Amino acid sequence: MKINSSEFIISAVSPKQYPTDGLPEIALAGRSNVGKSSLINTLLNRKNLARTSQRPGKTQTLNYYKINDAFYFVDVPGYGYAKVSKKEKEAWGTMLDTYFQANQPLKAIVQLVDLRHPPSKEDIYMHDYLIHYGHPTITVATKADKISKNKQEKYKRVIAKDLRLTSDDPFILFSSFNGQGKDTLWKTIQYYMKN
Ligand code: GDP
Repeated sequence: MKINSSEFIISAVSPKQYPTDGLPEIALAGRSNVGKSSLINTLLNRKNLARTSQRPGKTQTLNYYKINDAFYFVDVPGYGYAKVSKKEKEAWGTMLDTYFQANQPLKAIVQLVDLRHPPSKEDIYMHDYLIHYGHPTITVATKADKISKNKQEKYKRVIAKDLRLTSDDPFILFSSFNGQGKDTLWKTIQYYMKN
């Protein structure tokens, strides 16, 4: 994928802040610290467009990035912070419900999990939640460079089993450190953008 331009557009909380130009959207969701900002920066060949290591307690927003003036990446705030209050968790849930229900141009959701660990309860909950809304989901296992090539399949199978993925479900191993999976992920995103 050739990236001609990528720019941050808006941090949105409510639908009145969502872009209205109708361009296709790809959302990215995952546990805090899973490597989501790094993945966005890697896909866009940028160093610091998506800020890494977002802090808990900060306002949780949907961050829109416009790419090639043709589509958006929507960075969904990370889940799984133990320190976040019940009230903040509820606000996060309501924001996601609103986004996933309302959003017509949403073409697919990239759900990130860490290849090194079996999916957490929250990862599994998130996966079921996305399926419930009926959006195509691309599962990406991050930090693949931390697992040797000959063991990656084994770790992949654990995640596929826990998330109840079928062999038809897209599931890509990815590393922001060495670029593994980058081309495959772009191809998969482009496929969903056209369908
Ligand atoms: P986010 O909270 O999901 O946006 O995660 P970040 O992108 O900020 O990454 C969290 C931590 O994981 C940082 O210390 C990154 O350097 C590290 N990290 C991110 N991607 C990779 C990767 O592909 N491989 C390795 N080994 N570490 C990564």
